[in-house]
Amino acid sequence: MLGCANLVCKLVALSDRQQHECSSWPEMEIKRTRLRTVMRIGNNEFCFRGKSPMMGFKPPLTAEQVEAIGDISQASETLRVALDPSADFDPIPAPQPGDWLAEHPESGQSFDDYVRSKPNRPEGLRTKVYLAPLGEFAETRSPSLETLKSFAATFFAMDVRVLSAYDLGQLPLTTRINPYTGNQQILTTDVLDYLLGMLPTDAFCLLAVTMEDLYPDPRWNFVFGQATLRHRVGVFSFARYDPAFYGEARTGDYHTVLLKRACKVLAHETAHMFLLEHCIFFKCLINGSNHLAESDSRPLHLCPVCLRKLQFSIGFDVVDRYRKLLSFHQRVGFDDESVWIEKRLKLIQDRSRGTTHIIT
Ligand SMILES: [Zn+2]
Ligand SMILES: [Zn+2]
Repeated sequence: MLGCANLVCKLVALSDRQQHECSSWPEMEIKRTRLRTVMRIGNNEFCFRGKSPMMGFKPPLTAEQVEAIGDISQASETLRVALDPSADFDPIPAPQPGDWLAEHPESGQSFDDYVRSKPNRPEGLRTKVYLAPLGEFAETRSPSLETLKSFAATFFAMDVRVLSAYDLGQLPLTTRINPYTGNQQILTTDVLDYLLGMLPTDAFCLLAVTMEDLYPDPRWNFVFGQATLRHRVGVFSFARYDPAFYGEARTGDYHTVLLKRACKVLAHETAHMFLLEHCIFFKCLINGSNHLAESDSRPLHLCPVCLRKLQFSIGFDVVDRYRKLLSFHQRVGFDDESVWIEKRLKLIQDRSRGTTHIIT
């Protein structure tokens, strides 16, 4: 079960295999390898990059980034250039107090780790990403569902379908009024139970998106989203990306900012459905995030480690995907991402002399 709390994505556990939070540390045994520390606590094993989670996260060395990307000697020339860590990819900064990595020890998932995890892949009948609007998406305050669909289809190079909106009044969902905000909230576990029974037979995953606020448990104030990874269903709220939720004024570029935040959370959470774990190797869309400023500072693109995982899972042509993403970013006004992808395409074109026919 993955829970997204605080502001974006607080992991209770990334998968059935890995528990990321615990409240006590009895009977600890520590083993060290070159890159990792393995701590055995009772029957659980925790794996951390570096000497100890208590000593804080240190950004990886170049050799560690290369090791995380894995052996690409057998990859196509274009893919080898696209995965070159020396170009266009920013280093992950050391975390500041309150940032995700200051509070959540992450071991990092290399490409080889990812392959060994036997991740969910879109194959056979299960090839479509379904988005299910939960409640209303009023035009004045919501991201466009058609635009989100277009983005997801381009980012994942998959068939994305938007289902008819679920009518909140018709679903068996527990709700409450949050005493701090006065806004209605929906219990996420009820939504997940409902989605499990609605999963289409050709769905790779089914994601409910909503402008309603969510909570995962009566003891919690709120949650941004929650998902069951192996069961491939999730629910995510964009409600708190609207300044009006906090009684603040919307700025002139409100719709672009809201759309970008929605695209980020949609791509980040959908990537978890492919069993990508949080990235600690570069500044990347798949970095964990503990607050809105940290989330806003993440790029909308993937580092070479995460790009290789997603390409392995889906099998897309990286250049074709970049070109379509560039077109999307230009259309919606994501100028910084447009500039970044233009640089990527030029570099791949310049270096892939033997395969320039791919790029037109
Ligand atoms: Zn996450
Ligand atoms: Zn990454």
